[in-house]
Amino acid sequence: MLEFKEVYKRYPEFGEALHNVSFHIGRGEWVFLTGPSGAGKSTLFKLVAVIERATRGQIVLDGRNITRASNREIPHIRRKLGLIFQDYKLLYDRSVFDNVALPLVIAGFNPGEVSRRVRAALGKVGLLSKEKRLPQTLSGGEQQRVGIARAIVHKPDFILADEPTGNLDPEAAREVMDIFRDFNGLGVTLLIASHDEQLISRCGGRILRLQRGSLAEVNA
Ligand code: ADP
Ligand code: ADP
Repeated sequence: MLEFKEVYKRYPEFGEALHNVSFHIGRGEWVFLTGPSGAGKSTLFKLVAVIERATRGQIVLDGRNITRASNREIPHIRRKLGLIFQDYKLLYDRSVFDNVALPLVIAGFNPGEVSRRVRAALGKVGLLSKEKRLPQTLSGGEQQRVGIARAIVHKPDFILADEPTGNLDPEAAREVMDIFRDFNGLGVTLLIASHDEQLISRCGGRILRLQRGSLAEVNA
């Protein structure tokens, strides 16, 4: 599903954020990415979503080398991915429904198909009854579930979640992880960045550990 081969990322204003990073994630795997703040976790995600470009090395997503993807190819690459963020990145002047619909509207789906898919996605995260609400009227955990519904409404094969439970209390965090488990059960691959060691040890699974830009440990 995803392979990094000797990947380096240097920011001119900073220096090396990733140093010789290599790993492979197979289809359907459940993997945590951990390491202290500043270790390079967000940078790694940005390289997969082609928000940033690698300085050296190769990144292969779904059998395709995306390291030097053209701007025209980027939307196609992102459609394979569901991106989830610590701060949800919702539009606060739009309803829950409209937030989740946005990726489908941009992709040109017809209104009937948009409604059907948005309701299916909201059903998966348990928010069908709140589709008309504005995001700020929801709890943090509910807002993150809106973020998840938006990320999966186009049925990606691969979910990348960057500190998805970082702003949530333990109960809401558990609900988010349960939703991820359900998707993983459907065959969706998950890469979850977190520095919550308790949450990681409770959930189990493979761990990629970043330390100052280098992959320090790979647990099987
Ligand atoms: P993490 O997600 O693990 O906290 P990041 O990938 O955000 O780590 O950052 C890794 C390092 O790269 C940090 O020291 C950060 O300051 C630096 N960095 C991240 N983005 C940029 C950027 N756009 N320009 C310069 N330095 C950056
Ligand atoms: P439909 O195929 O009729 O849209 P499904 O019951 O297959 O509905 O899926 C309902 C919703 O669950 C989808 O709209 C999507 O949000 C999510 N979903 C289903 N399968 C996947 C998958 N393989 N990957 C990601 N999300 C999925």
